Amino acid sequence: MKFTLAIHGGAGTRRREAMSPEAEAGYRTGLQHALMSGYRVLKEGGPALEAVTKAVMALEDDPQFNAGRGAVYTSAGTHEMDAAVMEGASRKAGAVAGVMGPRNPVLAARAVMERSENVLLIGEGAMQFCREQGLAFKKAPYFATTERFEALQAELERRRVKGMDMRDDAAKHGTVGAVACDAGGNLAAATSTGGMTGKTPGRVGDCPVFGAGTWADESCAISATGHGEVFIRYAAAHEIASRMRLGKQSLAAAAEAVVAELGALGGSGGLIGVDATGEVALPFNCTGMYRGRIGADGIAWTGIYREPLKAKELSAA
Ligand code: ASP
Repeated sequence: MKFTLAIHGGAGTRRREAMSPEAEAGYRTGLQHALMSGYRVLKEGGPALEAVTKAVMALEDDPQFNAGRGAVYTSAGTHEMDAAVMEGASRKAGAVAGVMGPRNPVLAARAVMERSENVLLIGEGAMQFCREQGLAFKKAPYFATTERFEALQAELERRRVKGMDMRDDAAKHGTVGAVACDAGGNLAAATSTGGMTGKTPGRVGDCPVFGAGTWADESCAISATGHGEVFIRYAAAHEIASRMRLGKQSLAAAAEAVVAELGALGGSGGLIGVDATGEVALPFNCTGMYRGRIGADGIAWTGIYREPLKAKELSAA
């Protein structure tokens, strides 16, 4: 049985100098926990869609990552979360945008996919739908963290001194995501985010925009993280699928080229992808990207900066 799961915890890593061994251990433990949550599903022969959902739920529940608990703040000091899921073979998809309340926004996205006629629900209407579906809700303090609140204050102060700009600062980034190829060769992707620190209320990033931050078809499943506006303008995830399907490129070639081109356009970030043979690509064009992968051998690999895979992990990748 062959299967693969890859995850990311966002391209907005701490700078290497600011990363203490304790903090690094915390991120790696969080990534490993998410990998194992998805791995257990795949090992039992479960579907890729369920594996990516479980992996993203684990990252949403972990306040170290910018999704669910620990989401970043808007400029108004509120939380507005986006999430999406997509299944390759069926091309079924569901997403929510601008929600605050569902404990796991990825479950809200999945409910839209499986229990509504729609693909994308936003704001109050999305939350009403989630309530009707009986999803677990949490109040604002559950999502709040001191670190994110301080990041917002720093960002607001920076704007007061230097003025508003769309500077693509890795400190503002974050997002979580997972892609999987299950034992039957089915592909799925899931992405969830609080967006970018200090974002304008009402702003929606690339995560719930299918073809931009989230995509799955017969050729690949992609989940992105980075400066959402640029990923949307470039239809980043779908661009990779197109280069594979029409241009006959490998996942690695297409994903690396697109991420490099996004960087040249001012869109820092990265993405994770898996193809129907279980090959993964984890390219990024910024300092680092919290990421990991696991296959049928159960070896969980995690990375933050540019760390080469060890020989054993390479053969398993
Ligand atoms: N892509 C996300 C957004 O623009 C943020 C991120 O991944 O850093 O909302």
